[in-house]
Amino acid sequence: MSDRFPKFVEIVEVGPRDGLQNESAVVGTETKLKFIAAAVDAGIRRIEVASFVNPKRVPQMADAEDVLKALPRRDGVQYVGLVLNRKGFERAQAAGCTEIGMAVVASDTFNQRNQGASTADSIAAWAEIARAAHAAGIRAQVTVSAAFGCPFEGDVPVARVVEIAERVAEAGPFEIAIADTIGVGVPSQVGEIVARVRERLPQMPLRFHFHNTRNTGLANAYAAVEAGVTVLDASIGGIGGCPFAPAATGNIPTEDLVYMLNRMGIATGIDLASLINTGRWLQDQLGRTIPGMLIKAGDFHVRPTTV
Ligand code: MG
Repeated sequence: MSDRFPKFVEIVEVGPRDGLQNESAVVGTETKLKFIAAAVDAGIRRIEVASFVNPKRVPQMADAEDVLKALPRRDGVQYVGLVLNRKGFERAQAAGCTEIGMAVVASDTFNQRNQGASTADSIAAWAEIARAAHAAGIRAQVTVSAAFGCPFEGDVPVARVVEIAERVAEAGPFEIAIADTIGVGVPSQVGEIVARVRERLPQMPLRFHFHNTRNTGLANAYAAVEAGVTVLDASIGGIGGCPFAPAATGNIPTEDLVYMLNRMGIATGIDLASLINTGRWLQDQLGRTIPGMLIKAGDFHVRPTTV
C-alpha cells in the first residue's frame, strides 16, 4: 500500500447519542447500555454515550446520568458526553464522563435554534468549559457544526469555518471536529476545509463528522482519509439526525465505514462481524429498517481458489 492513506483510522461511535437522539420513541436505558457494551466489545474505544442538555428539549437523553452510572469503567475506553453549556458540563463531570465534547455552530441562526445562544456566546461558553475540564482532568474537544452548510442560512464560507476553528482552538481542545451536521457536504469541500484549517492550525488534530442525508457521507469520509484525517465519527446502523435541523438524517454507518477502510488496508481495531451483528440487533430494537448497507449485504469474503 502506498503512503497515500493513513495506516490507522480511529472511529468515534456516536450512535448512542447522535444516533438515538432523533428517535421519536424513547429508547430504554437498558437497551442503550446493551448498545454501548456491544460497541465496546466490537473494539470501539471512544463512544458518545449521552448529551447533557435540557431533557425537555431532547427527551431521548433524559437518562444521561443513569446511563453513565451503569456503564462499567473499562481501561482505554472513553465515554464521551456532549455538553452545550456550563451546566451541562457540570452534569457530565458529576456523572463521570472521561471526555466531553462541546459544539459551536458555524451559523448564528442554527446556533440559536440548537442551543439558544449566539455563536459568539457559545464560543465564550466553550472557553469556560475547557478551563473547567482541564482543571478537572477531563479530556475536552469541540466541534464546529454545520461547517458544510446551514439549513437556515445556506452556504457557510470556508473562511467562517476557519475563523471559528481558530477561536475555539484558543481554549486548548485536544482535537477539533468539523461536522456536516445536516449532510449537505461533498468531497471537494472536505479537502478544502482540511487544507484551509491546517494552514492556520497545523498542529491541531482534526476529526470529521458526516451525515449521509444526501448520500455523500461515505464519499466525504474517503476524502477526509485521503486528506490525512485519522479520526472519524460514525453510528452503527447509520441511525441519527438532528432534532433542530429539518430533514437531517443518519450519520455514516460505522460498519459500512469499517468495511471500506478494511478493504483499503486501513486498520480500525474494530471487528466488522460484531458491528454487523450489533447493527442487526439495533434494527430489531428500533423495529424498522435502518440505513446501514452492511447489515443487509453482509461482509464480502474473497474465497481462496482451490485446485
Ligand atoms: Mg450529527
